Amino acid sequence: MGVPTQVLKGMTLNGSVETLPFINPATGEKFGEVAVARAEDVRRVQREMAAAATTWAAKPIKERVRILRQLQALMLDEMDQITAVMNQDGGKSRQDALSELFMTVDLLNQYCNNAPRWLRRRRISSGLQFLKRCYIEYKPHGVVGVIGPWNYPLVLLLTPIFSALLAGNTVIAKPSEVTAATGDMIEKLFRRIPELAPFVRFLHGGPEVGAALVAASPDLVYLTSSTATGRKVMKAAAEQMTPVICELGGKDPMIVLDDADVKAAAKWGVWGAFYNTGQTCMAIERVYVVQELYDVFVREVIEQTRRLKVGYTAETGNENDMGPLTFQRQLDIIEDHMQDALAKGAKIVAGGGRDGMFMEPTVIVNVDHTMRLMRDETFGPIMPVMKVDDETHAIQLANDSNFGLSASVWSQDLERAQRVAHQLQVGSVNINDTMTHFAIPRLPFGGVKESGIGRTHGEKDLRQFTQTRAYAIGRPPLPFDVATLMRAPGNYRLGAAIMRLAFGVTPKQRLQPVREVLEEHGVKPEVSRLAAVAGLTALLTAAVLGLLRSRR
Ligand code: NAD
Repeated sequence: MGVPTQVLKGMTLNGSVETLPFINPATGEKFGEVAVARAEDVRRVQREMAAAATTWAAKPIKERVRILRQLQALMLDEMDQITAVMNQDGGKSRQDALSELFMTVDLLNQYCNNAPRWLRRRRISSGLQFLKRCYIEYKPHGVVGVIGPWNYPLVLLLTPIFSALLAGNTVIAKPSEVTAATGDMIEKLFRRIPELAPFVRFLHGGPEVGAALVAASPDLVYLTSSTATGRKVMKAAAEQMTPVICELGGKDPMIVLDDADVKAAAKWGVWGAFYNTGQTCMAIERVYVVQELYDVFVREVIEQTRRLKVGYTAETGNENDMGPLTFQRQLDIIEDHMQDALAKGAKIVAGGGRDGMFMEPTVIVNVDHTMRLMRDETFGPIMPVMKVDDETHAIQLANDSNFGLSASVWSQDLERAQRVAHQLQVGSVNINDTMTHFAIPRLPFGGVKESGIGRTHGEKDLRQFTQTRAYAIGRPPLPFDVATLMRAPGNYRLGAAIMRLAFGVTPKQRLQPVREVLEEHGVKPEVSRLAAVAGLTALLTAAVLGLLRSRR
């Protein structure tokens, strides 16, 4: 008997050419394949993209936006084909695929609207060097390597590609080997836009191809992956001093306070735990409920969970809430966490069963922090619920984690919920909702601790794909310029006096140079006279500065 097809998903197959098979996790059906990049392909695309970088960077930002709008239009035209491939490739429903496409297009649209403003030249105050005019410009890095995961194979690969391109970089993308069909489909979309195709390349394959891309020394690496992969990539990138932005794993807590709307918390907590079959970096992976509400919350969660339908259809009309798990490795991790928890005294109160790649949404109680289920990323349809004494206890347990991606707090008192949110060690917090923050393209998203370095979404995201270049402009130094005075030997006392006048924290510090001058000339200054002299000095300085500025 051969190996079941599902088991081969994400694996390189050896033949005359190495390939990655496209396998539908729901049916086990193989529906295509793509050639795996060889070492020489990686080197070739790195050369090509380095050569093309100057041409793309030279295009004004409005021109880059115009070209990327063609991709936006194409994605809308090809909506049904895109969701069909994602459905076959990852097992998610056509509507869930559409939600992912929605987020992708929304983000591209907002980025195109705002990028010219976000990336425009900025004037910077020159401070005491008032004869200089200063500004900064955002320059592209050059070639950006983008390595993507399989759980949201469209939005998580395309967002950094959009950012990199808008910022003026060329891109080498390495889609996940697990969702190779989606990666292949994205490559074909780019190829259909002649003005864009020369500036993006795709490398298909597994970890070795990702590692070869990092070793080829792009100018920046943007990685979305597990924390373990993040560590490896950062180590490898350190060899060439390549900067790395990492969006890594999560173990997101949900805190339910005693004044929460318990029905809403249960309904949306269940959604946050089981959406995309729990395979979401910011899925609800741990729930802490204060004791007053614990029993009723668990009852509601069980009821909501039992209503969920598990199944698969390739049609756009779909009644299922959850599809299959996407591939075998994930299934093994989930089983491992569940068995470890059960062996340590946890109890399943809903679900627990499995049929091939389809797992029932599962609610587990009697959990604690000795269990892998509460410490490591499970990335599957399990919702562990733990009773806590009070708000403080909930915060302490939520923060007792190596991860810090996002969190959710439930309370009808929004002030109180925010007070709790401020104490959580995470990158983002949702109050009275779960996971929605990610769908807001201009709200920064990313983690602290082992959940990542850097942020995606919004102005800062786009600027991460640039290097700041600073300019200080002026005519050759004049004799009374502060910089000139400080360069000339013999000006120690003058320099010290300027420092005190300009940066003195107390009036005494600021007036000290004036007092010294007066005392040197034998004048015994009274405080009022000193104040008058200081006032006059300040006035004169301001007037001279104003005059000089207006002359420019
Ligand atoms: P993964 O770490 O297995 O692989 C991610 C990508 O890295 C793949 O393309 C893979 O081929 C590549 N890769 C693996 N080893 C590599 C190496 N040594 N050098 C270069 N590339 C290498 O992750 P995954 O299973 O595809 O994705 C799920 C993980 O991603 C979860 O941990 C999840 O939390 C995380 N994730 C994080 C975010 C976020 O925004 N923080 C979003 C989605 C997923």
